[in-house]
Amino acid sequence: MPRIYLDANATTPLLPEVIEAMRPFWSESFGNPSSAHQSGQRTRSAVEHARASVARLLNAPPKELVFTSGGTESDNLALSGVLQPYLDRKEPAHLITTSIEHHAVLYTAESLERRGIEVTYLAPTREGVIDPAELEAALKPHTKLVSVMLANNETGAIQSVGKLARIAKAHGALVHTDAVQGAAKLTLDLSGEFKNVDMLSLSGHKMYAPQGTGVLFVRKGVQLAPLFHGGPHERQRRAGTENVPGIVGLGRAAELAHEWLNSQLDASSLKALRDRLEQGLIASIPDVALNAGEAPRVPNTTNLRITGIDAEALLIALDIQGVAASFGAACQSGATEPSHVLLAMGLSPAEARSSLRLSLSRFTTAEEIDRALEVIPAAVARLRSLS
Ligand code: PLP
Repeated sequence: MPRIYLDANATTPLLPEVIEAMRPFWSESFGNPSSAHQSGQRTRSAVEHARASVARLLNAPPKELVFTSGGTESDNLALSGVLQPYLDRKEPAHLITTSIEHHAVLYTAESLERRGIEVTYLAPTREGVIDPAELEAALKPHTKLVSVMLANNETGAIQSVGKLARIAKAHGALVHTDAVQGAAKLTLDLSGEFKNVDMLSLSGHKMYAPQGTGVLFVRKGVQLAPLFHGGPHERQRRAGTENVPGIVGLGRAAELAHEWLNSQLDASSLKALRDRLEQGLIASIPDVALNAGEAPRVPNTTNLRITGIDAEALLIALDIQGVAASFGAACQSGATEPSHVLLAMGLSPAEARSSLRLSLSRFTTAEEIDRALEVIPAAVARLRSLS
Protein backbone atom coordinates (compact mmCIF):
# COMPACT_ATOMS: atom_id res chain seq x y z
CA MET A 1 0.00 0.00 0.00
CA PRO A 2 1.60 3.35 -1.01
CA ARG A 3 2.26 5.67 1.90
CA ILE A 4 0.14 8.77 2.43
CA TYR A 5 2.20 11.83 3.28
CA LEU A 6 0.25 14.34 5.38
CA ASP A 7 3.21 16.17 6.88
CA ALA A 8 4.00 18.84 4.30
CA ASN A 9 4.54 21.51 6.98
CA ALA A 10 7.57 19.50 8.13
CA THR A 11 8.95 19.31 4.61
CA THR A 12 7.53 19.19 1.12
CA PRO A 13 8.47 16.69 -1.57
CA LEU A 14 10.56 18.10 -4.43
CA LEU A 15 8.69 19.00 -7.60
CA PRO A 16 10.01 17.07 -10.64
CA GLU A 17 10.62 20.39 -12.44
CA VAL A 18 12.79 21.50 -9.52
CA ILE A 19 14.91 18.33 -9.70
CA GLU A 20 15.31 18.80 -13.47
CA ALA A 21 16.38 22.43 -13.06
CA MET A 22 19.02 21.48 -10.47
CA ARG A 23 20.46 18.48 -12.30
CA PRO A 24 23.09 20.25 -14.50
CA PHE A 25 24.48 22.09 -11.49
CA TRP A 26 25.66 18.83 -9.94
CA SER A 27 27.45 17.77 -13.10
CA GLU A 28 28.61 19.86 -16.04
CA SER A 29 27.77 23.30 -14.57
CA PHE A 30 29.85 23.32 -11.42
CA GLY A 31 31.78 26.62 -11.54
CA ASN A 32 32.11 28.85 -8.51
CA PRO A 33 29.80 31.81 -9.15
CA SER A 34 32.54 34.15 -7.88
CA SER A 35 35.01 32.94 -10.53
CA ALA A 36 35.60 35.21 -13.51
CA HIS A 37 35.88 32.41 -16.09
CA GLN A 38 33.01 31.11 -18.19
CA SER A 39 32.16 28.22 -15.84
CA GLY A 40 31.82 30.70 -13.01
CA GLN A 41 29.83 33.13 -15.10
CA ARG A 42 27.39 30.38 -16.05
CA THR A 43 26.60 29.54 -12.43
CA ARG A 44 26.53 33.26 -11.50
CA SER A 45 23.91 33.82 -14.14
CA ALA A 46 21.90 30.82 -12.83
CA VAL A 47 22.02 32.24 -9.28
CA GLU A 48 20.87 35.65 -10.51
CA HIS A 49 18.10 34.05 -12.58
CA ALA A 50 16.90 32.27 -9.43
CA ARG A 51 17.07 35.54 -7.49
CA ALA A 52 14.88 37.23 -10.09
CA SER A 53 12.36 34.37 -9.87
CA VAL A 54 12.10 34.60 -6.08
CA ALA A 55 11.88 38.40 -6.38
CA ARG A 56 8.91 38.03 -8.74
CA LEU A 57 7.16 35.73 -6.27
CA LEU A 58 7.61 38.36 -3.53
CA ASN A 59 7.11 41.42 -5.76
CA ALA A 60 10.42 42.76 -4.46
CA PRO A 61 13.66 43.96 -6.09
CA PRO A 62 16.12 41.07 -6.64
CA LYS A 63 18.93 43.04 -4.94
CA GLU A 64 16.99 42.89 -1.68
CA LEU A 65 17.17 39.09 -1.42
CA VAL A 66 19.86 37.18 0.45
CA PHE A 67 20.19 33.43 -0.14
CA THR A 68 20.70 31.48 3.09
CA SER A 69 20.81 27.88 4.27
CA GLY A 70 17.14 27.89 5.27
CA GLY A 71 14.45 29.40 7.43
CA THR A 72 16.46 29.04 10.62
CA GLU A 73 19.39 31.03 9.28
CA SER A 74 17.11 33.67 7.77
CA ASP A 75 15.35 34.15 11.11
CA ASN A 76 18.65 34.30 13.02
CA LEU A 77 20.10 36.79 10.54
CA ALA A 78 17.04 39.03 10.76
CA LEU A 79 16.88 39.18 14.56
CA SER A 80 20.56 39.08 15.48
CA GLY A 81 21.55 41.12 12.43
CA VAL A 82 19.40 44.04 13.55
CA LEU A 83 19.91 43.77 17.31
CA GLN A 84 23.56 42.70 17.76
CA PRO A 85 24.82 46.23 16.90
CA TYR A 86 22.76 47.65 19.82
CA LEU A 87 24.44 45.14 22.15
CA ASP A 88 27.84 46.07 20.72
CA ARG A 89 27.17 49.77 21.31
CA LYS A 90 25.54 49.07 24.71
CA GLU A 91 22.42 50.94 23.60
CA PRO A 92 19.04 49.85 24.97
CA ALA A 93 16.87 48.02 22.46
CA HIS A 94 13.51 46.29 22.71
CA LEU A 95 12.29 43.39 20.56
CA ILE A 96 8.63 42.41 20.29
CA THR A 97 7.82 38.92 19.10
CA THR A 98 5.17 36.31 19.92
CA SER A 99 4.99 33.21 22.05
CA ILE A 100 3.86 31.12 19.05
CA GLU A 101 6.90 31.63 16.84
CA HIS A 102 8.98 28.75 15.52
CA HIS A 103 11.99 28.05 17.72
CA ALA A 104 14.22 29.61 15.05
CA VAL A 105 12.78 32.97 16.16
CA LEU A 106 11.89 32.12 19.75
CA TYR A 107 15.29 30.76 20.76
CA THR A 108 17.09 33.58 18.93
CA ALA A 109 14.97 36.06 20.90
CA GLU A 110 15.78 34.23 24.13
CA SER A 111 19.48 34.27 23.32
CA LEU A 112 19.35 38.02 22.61
CA GLU A 113 17.44 38.49 25.87
CA ARG A 114 20.15 36.68 27.84
CA ARG A 115 22.68 39.05 26.26
CA GLY A 116 20.78 42.20 27.26
CA ILE A 117 18.02 42.90 24.72
CA GLU A 118 14.62 43.56 26.28
CA VAL A 119 12.05 41.18 24.76
CA THR A 120 8.25 41.15 24.90
CA TYR A 121 6.46 37.94 23.85
CA LEU A 122 2.91 38.69 22.71
CA ALA A 123 0.38 35.98 23.60
CA PRO A 124 -2.20 34.88 21.01
CA THR A 125 -5.93 34.54 21.45
CA ARG A 126 -7.43 31.07 22.01
CA GLU A 127 -7.63 30.89 18.19
CA GLY A 128 -3.89 31.42 17.83
CA VAL A 129 -4.10 34.97 16.49
CA ILE A 130 -2.18 38.04 17.67
CA ASP A 131 -4.45 41.01 18.40
CA PRO A 132 -3.02 44.19 16.81
CA ALA A 133 -4.11 46.11 19.94
CA GLU A 134 -1.67 43.96 21.96
CA LEU A 135 1.17 45.02 19.69
CA GLU A 136 0.13 48.67 19.92
CA ALA A 137 0.19 48.45 23.73
CA ALA A 138 3.58 46.71 23.83
CA LEU A 139 5.50 49.21 21.66
CA LYS A 140 8.02 51.35 23.53
CA PRO A 141 10.12 54.31 22.42
CA HIS A 142 13.17 52.02 22.17
CA THR A 143 11.39 49.17 20.31
CA LYS A 144 13.74 48.50 17.42
CA LEU A 145 12.26 45.35 15.92
CA VAL A 146 8.91 43.55 15.74
CA SER A 147 8.97 39.93 14.52
CA VAL A 148 5.63 38.18 13.94
CA MET A 149 5.25 35.04 11.86
CA LEU A 150 2.90 35.00 8.90
CA ALA A 151 1.47 31.48 9.23
CA ASN A 152 1.91 29.14 12.14
CA ASN A 153 3.55 25.81 11.35
CA GLU A 154 1.38 23.87 13.81
CA THR A 155 -2.08 25.40 13.43
CA GLY A 156 -1.81 27.16 10.07
CA ALA A 157 -3.27 30.35 11.65
CA ILE A 158 -2.44 33.45 9.63
CA GLN A 159 -1.47 36.68 11.36
CA SER A 160 -2.53 40.06 9.96
CA VAL A 161 1.08 40.91 9.19
CA GLY A 162 0.20 43.85 6.92
CA LYS A 163 -1.74 45.53 9.72
CA LEU A 164 0.80 44.67 12.44
CA ALA A 165 3.61 46.01 10.24
CA ARG A 166 1.75 49.29 9.72
CA ILE A 167 1.41 49.74 13.49
CA ALA A 168 5.07 48.91 14.16
CA LYS A 169 6.26 51.18 11.36
CA ALA A 170 4.23 54.10 12.69
CA HIS A 171 6.28 53.72 15.90
CA GLY A 172 9.55 53.64 13.98
CA ALA A 173 10.33 49.94 14.58
CA LEU A 174 11.65 47.59 11.90
CA VAL A 175 9.42 44.63 11.01
CA HIS A 176 10.38 41.02 10.33
CA THR A 177 8.04 38.19 9.43
CA ASP A 178 8.82 34.49 9.30
CA ALA A 179 6.83 33.61 6.18
CA VAL A 180 8.25 30.09 5.91
CA GLN A 181 4.79 28.47 6.15
CA GLY A 182 3.14 31.09 3.95
CA ALA A 183 5.24 30.54 0.84
CA ALA A 184 3.51 28.75 -2.05
CA LYS A 185 0.27 28.95 -0.04
CA LEU A 186 -0.39 32.70 0.20
CA THR A 187 0.38 35.70 -2.01
CA LEU A 188 3.33 37.55 -0.50
CA ASP A 189 3.41 41.09 -1.91
CA LEU A 190 6.25 43.15 -0.49
CA SER A 191 5.25 46.14 -2.62
CA GLY A 192 1.56 45.91 -1.67
CA GLU A 193 0.06 44.32 1.43
CA PHE A 194 3.50 43.84 3.02
CA LYS A 195 5.06 47.14 1.99
CA ASN A 196 5.83 47.92 5.64
CA VAL A 197 7.65 44.63 6.18
CA ASP A 198 11.43 45.17 6.25
CA MET A 199 12.58 41.55 6.40
CA LEU A 200 10.89 38.28 5.42
CA SER A 201 12.17 34.71 5.82
CA LEU A 202 11.50 31.83 3.43
CA SER A 203 12.65 28.22 3.48
CA GLY A 204 13.09 26.18 0.29
CA HIS A 205 11.94 22.87 1.72
CA LYS A 206 8.50 24.18 2.64
CA MET A 207 7.88 25.20 -0.97
CA TYR A 208 8.93 22.08 -2.95
CA ALA A 209 12.62 23.06 -3.21
CA PRO A 210 15.49 21.29 -1.44
CA GLN A 211 16.24 21.26 2.26
CA GLY A 212 19.10 23.56 3.23
CA THR A 213 17.99 26.49 1.08
CA GLY A 214 16.35 29.73 2.13
CA VAL A 215 15.98 33.44 1.58
CA LEU A 216 15.93 36.53 3.70
CA PHE A 217 14.36 39.57 2.07
CA VAL A 218 16.09 42.68 3.44
CA ARG A 219 14.56 45.97 2.37
CA LYS A 220 16.94 48.62 1.05
CA GLY A 221 18.37 50.72 3.85
CA VAL A 222 18.10 48.07 6.60
CA GLN A 223 21.51 47.61 8.21
CA LEU A 224 22.32 44.03 9.21
CA ALA A 225 25.36 42.74 11.09
CA PRO A 226 26.31 39.50 9.27
CA LEU A 227 26.18 36.18 11.09
CA PHE A 228 29.14 34.74 9.14
CA HIS A 229 32.48 36.32 8.44
CA GLY A 230 34.28 35.58 5.19
CA GLY A 231 33.93 36.58 1.57
CA PRO A 232 31.77 39.42 0.24
CA HIS A 233 29.01 37.10 -1.03
CA GLU A 234 25.40 38.23 -1.19
CA ARG A 235 26.41 41.91 -1.06
CA GLN A 236 28.38 41.42 2.15
CA ARG A 237 25.31 40.08 3.94
CA ARG A 238 26.04 36.33 3.88
CA ALA A 239 29.60 35.06 3.49
CA GLY A 240 30.14 31.66 1.91
CA THR A 241 30.11 30.16 -1.59
CA GLU A 242 26.53 29.89 -2.76
CA ASN A 243 24.69 26.55 -2.77
CA VAL A 244 24.16 26.80 -6.52
CA PRO A 245 22.05 23.67 -7.16
CA GLY A 246 19.87 24.48 -4.15
CA ILE A 247 19.43 28.12 -5.18
CA VAL A 248 18.53 27.07 -8.73
CA GLY A 249 15.94 24.65 -7.30
CA LEU A 250 14.54 27.35 -5.06
CA GLY A 251 14.25 29.72 -8.02
CA ARG A 252 12.38 27.12 -10.08
CA ALA A 253 10.09 26.35 -7.14
CA ALA A 254 9.36 30.08 -6.81
CA GLU A 255 8.36 30.24 -10.50
CA LEU A 256 6.02 27.29 -10.06
CA ALA A 257 4.56 28.72 -6.85
CA HIS A 258 3.91 31.97 -8.69
CA GLU A 259 2.03 30.16 -11.46
CA TRP A 260 0.14 28.10 -8.94
CA LEU A 261 -0.96 31.07 -6.85
CA ASN A 262 -2.18 32.78 -10.01
CA SER A 263 -4.28 29.77 -10.88
CA GLN A 264 -7.26 30.02 -8.55
CA LEU A 265 -8.36 26.53 -9.49
CA ASP A 266 -5.17 24.89 -8.22
CA ALA A 267 -5.12 26.84 -4.97
CA SER A 268 -8.77 26.18 -4.18
CA SER A 269 -8.46 22.45 -4.84
CA LEU A 270 -5.88 22.09 -2.05
CA LYS A 271 -8.22 23.86 0.36
CA ALA A 272 -11.13 21.70 -0.80
CA LEU A 273 -9.13 18.54 -0.03
CA ARG A 274 -8.10 19.86 3.39
CA ASP A 275 -11.70 20.80 4.19
CA ARG A 276 -12.93 17.38 3.10
CA LEU A 277 -10.39 15.70 5.36
CA GLU A 278 -11.19 17.97 8.27
CA GLN A 279 -14.96 17.68 7.97
CA GLY A 280 -14.75 13.92 7.39
CA LEU A 281 -12.72 13.46 10.57
CA ILE A 282 -15.02 15.68 12.61
CA ALA A 283 -18.02 13.69 11.36
CA SER A 284 -16.51 10.27 12.05
CA ILE A 285 -14.57 10.77 15.30
CA PRO A 286 -16.50 11.55 18.50
CA ASP A 287 -15.08 14.29 20.77
CA VAL A 288 -12.84 16.02 18.29
CA ALA A 289 -12.32 19.77 17.90
CA LEU A 290 -10.22 22.02 15.71
CA ASN A 291 -7.35 24.08 17.08
CA ALA A 292 -7.42 27.58 15.54
CA GLY A 293 -10.45 26.47 13.53
CA GLU A 294 -11.98 29.96 13.67
CA ALA A 295 -8.79 31.73 12.60
CA PRO A 296 -7.89 32.54 9.00
CA ARG A 297 -5.66 29.60 8.05
CA VAL A 298 -3.36 28.48 5.26
CA PRO A 299 -5.26 26.11 2.94
CA ASN A 300 -3.26 22.93 3.62
CA THR A 301 -3.19 22.60 7.42
CA THR A 302 -5.53 21.18 10.02
CA ASN A 303 -4.84 20.67 13.72
CA LEU A 304 -7.28 18.45 15.57
CA ARG A 305 -7.70 17.91 19.28
CA ILE A 306 -8.89 14.36 19.89
CA THR A 307 -10.05 13.97 23.48
CA GLY A 308 -8.44 11.15 25.43
CA ILE A 309 -5.92 10.31 22.70
CA ASP A 310 -2.17 10.49 23.12
CA ALA A 311 -1.14 12.00 19.79
CA GLU A 312 2.26 10.33 19.96
CA ALA A 313 0.65 6.88 20.20
CA LEU A 314 -1.73 7.82 17.39
CA LEU A 315 1.17 8.91 15.18
CA ILE A 316 2.89 5.57 15.65
CA ALA A 317 -0.35 3.73 14.87
CA LEU A 318 -0.89 5.86 11.75
CA ASP A 319 2.68 5.37 10.62
CA ILE A 320 2.23 1.60 10.78
CA GLN A 321 -0.89 2.03 8.64
CA GLY A 322 1.09 4.09 6.11
CA VAL A 323 -0.05 7.60 7.06
CA ALA A 324 2.64 10.17 7.91
CA ALA A 325 1.29 12.87 10.22
CA SER A 326 2.68 15.05 12.98
CA PHE A 327 1.70 16.38 16.33
CA GLY A 328 2.00 19.81 17.81
CA ALA A 329 4.91 18.95 20.00
CA ALA A 330 8.63 19.36 19.96
CA CYS A 331 10.81 16.39 20.69
CA GLN A 332 13.68 17.59 22.82
CA SER A 333 16.34 15.32 24.25
CA GLY A 334 14.09 12.33 23.88
CA ALA A 335 11.27 13.80 25.96
CA THR A 336 8.09 14.92 24.27
CA GLU A 337 7.08 18.36 25.45
CA PRO A 338 3.57 19.64 24.82
CA SER A 339 3.51 22.19 22.00
CA HIS A 340 4.48 25.70 23.13
CA VAL A 341 2.12 27.05 20.48
CA LEU A 342 -0.94 25.18 21.76
CA LEU A 343 -0.06 25.97 25.39
CA ALA A 344 0.28 29.67 24.49
CA MET A 345 -3.21 29.50 22.96
CA GLY A 346 -4.52 28.39 26.36
CA LEU A 347 -4.82 24.64 25.82
CA SER A 348 -4.01 22.42 28.79
CA PRO A 349 -0.95 20.13 28.50
CA ALA A 350 -3.34 17.17 28.12
CA GLU A 351 -5.21 18.93 25.29
CA ALA A 352 -1.93 19.84 23.59
CA ARG A 353 -0.74 16.24 23.86
CA SER A 354 -3.93 15.02 22.21
CA SER A 355 -3.52 17.28 19.16
CA LEU A 356 -2.72 15.96 15.71
CA ARG A 357 -1.43 18.04 12.78
CA LEU A 358 -2.21 17.02 9.24
CA SER A 359 -0.68 19.09 6.45
CA LEU A 360 -1.33 18.46 2.76
CA SER A 361 0.94 19.12 -0.18
CA ARG A 362 0.35 19.84 -3.85
CA PHE A 363 0.85 16.12 -4.44
CA THR A 364 -1.98 15.03 -2.10
CA THR A 365 -4.79 13.32 -4.00
CA ALA A 366 -8.49 12.81 -3.34
CA GLU A 367 -7.85 9.04 -3.12
CA GLU A 368 -5.30 9.61 -0.38
CA ILE A 369 -7.76 11.74 1.56
CA ASP A 370 -10.40 8.99 1.21
CA ARG A 371 -7.93 6.45 2.55
CA ALA A 372 -6.87 8.77 5.42
CA LEU A 373 -10.56 9.11 6.28
CA GLU A 374 -10.71 5.34 6.76
CA VAL A 375 -7.39 4.88 8.55
CA ILE A 376 -7.45 7.77 11.04
CA PRO A 377 -10.91 7.18 12.61
CA ALA A 378 -10.19 3.43 12.85
CA ALA A 379 -6.84 4.10 14.59
CA VAL A 380 -8.51 6.52 17.03
CA ALA A 381 -11.27 3.99 17.80
CA ARG A 382 -8.68 1.28 18.42
CA LEU A 383 -6.62 3.44 20.77
CA ARG A 384 -9.73 4.52 22.65
CA SER A 385 -10.86 0.92 23.05
CA LEU A 386 -7.48 0.06 24.59
CA SER A 387 -7.49 2.80 27.19
N1 PLP B 1 10.00 28.93 10.60
C1 PLP B 1 8.94 28.15 10.49
C2 PLP B 1 7.58 28.75 10.68
C3 PLP B 1 9.07 26.80 10.19
O1 PLP B 1 7.99 26.02 10.09
C4 PLP B 1 10.38 26.28 10.03
C5 PLP B 1 10.59 24.84 9.78
O2 PLP B 1 9.83 24.01 10.26
C6 PLP B 1 11.48 27.14 10.14
C7 PLP B 1 11.25 28.47 10.44
C8 PLP B 1 12.88 26.65 9.97
O3 PLP B 1 13.17 26.47 8.60
P1 PLP B 1 14.39 25.51 8.16
O4 PLP B 1 13.96 24.12 8.43
O5 PLP B 1 14.54 25.79 6.68
O6 PLP B 1 15.58 25.93 8.93
